[in-house]
Amino acid sequence: MRNRSTIQCSRCKVDAEIVSLGPIDVDHCSLCGNVWFDNRELEKASAAADGASGADFRDAVRCMAPVHAKSPVGPAVLACPFCSDALVRRPHPHAAALVAHTCLAHGVWVERTHLLEFFELIGKLGLTGLGEPQRRRDGHRADRLGSMDAHIRNLQKLRLRR
Ligand SMILES: [Zn+2]
Ligand SMILES: [Zn+2]
Repeated sequence: MRNRSTIQCSRCKVDAEIVSLGPIDVDHCSLCGNVWFDNRELEKASAAADGASGADFRDAVRCMAPVHAKSPVGPAVLACPFCSDALVRRPHPHAAALVAHTCLAHGVWVERTHLLEFFELIGKLGLTGLGEPQRRRDGHRADRLGSMDAHIRNLQKLRLRR
């Protein structure tokens, strides 16, 4: 458990509230709905959301709704709430749907929509499915199903991702 005062949302500049999500605490901005994860917390959260036992966790993420439907317009480049360095946008290594605003020293800001998509994906594919390189996954399918079936599956998968 964390032992520190609240931080400010990098975008809205209001105090974020600390919300418990299973084994971790995150800072959630009630205005824009975005979430700050301290270092390693996103990994812990992903593990907690995995599989059937993670259904509660995924529901909890879905329930973190913002007060306002539209998030206030903020600076294009967000600053780390701890060191004020500019956060760098990085895609998650295994899930392109999740782009995090990262401070290597302190953690990541994640936009609410990205977060939701990310946990939906974990629910669908599981953490192992997510971690498996895309090419290998498709390769297995092609061997098993023949190339036409695999092609159709890929198209369906692409549509699901939208
Ligand atoms: Zn905010
Ligand atoms: Zn920082």
